[in-house]
Amino acid sequence: MSPNLIDPAANLRAINEELNSALIEAGRKGDAVTITAVTKKQSPEQILPALAAGQRVFGENRVQEAQEKWSALREQFPGIELRLIGPLQSNKAGDAVRLFDVIETVDRPKIARVLAQEMEKQARRVRLLVQVNIGEEDQKAGVAPRDTDAFLSLCREQYGLTIDGLMCIPPADDDPAPYFALLAKIAARNNLADLSMGMSADYAIAAQLGATSVRIGTGIFGPRP
Ligand SMILES: *Cc1c(COP(=O)(O)O)cnc(C)c1O
Repeated sequence: MSPNLIDPAANLRAINEELNSALIEAGRKGDAVTITAVTKKQSPEQILPALAAGQRVFGENRVQEAQEKWSALREQFPGIELRLIGPLQSNKAGDAVRLFDVIETVDRPKIARVLAQEMEKQARRVRLLVQVNIGEEDQKAGVAPRDTDAFLSLCREQYGLTIDGLMCIPPADDDPAPYFALLAKIAARNNLADLSMGMSADYAIAAQLGATSVRIGTGIFGPRP
């Protein structure tokens, strides 16, 4: 499909409706899930219709790409919330704390330590989620499910961090439901409120299983260039 046939505003409306029905069906409040519009590799021209339609929460997976794209857009549109959903290198932690409102990919002690230092230095608090490698895949980042409780304690006790929730990306070719349910269970036993799970192919299932935010890219903006 050519990019000019894609209507991000219409896609957002349809996704919102589907989320709303899935939530009501699951006995949750119709607005219990925030849509994070994933704009990695998308140009400002492709993002503008979503901003014009009122979308304000966006996800990027690279610090530098986000800096280049969002400085100007942020001046034009007040109230934008930016979320880092890709892996973070420790030498980019300072930039990430300056730019993002939420970092969803805390996944190792070193990153927890440098984020704590940077937030202190910049006197800025960023909301943090721990990424769980929910399918225990070699190629994916994240803390193993069985190590998550201990890692959360380390973040709190050793680095004084408040962790608000968990994020996961289930294995591509499996039924995602058991993985979403496992993430919800780990969050519940650690008293964590935020669950970032569900993408274009499975956001309705994630919403039924307790997601508080879903990360949707192609479903809103079409295929990435
Ligand atoms: C790219 C990306 C998404 C969005 O994926 P779509 O299938 O395009 O919706 C969600 N989460 C993460 C971590 C991503 O990198």
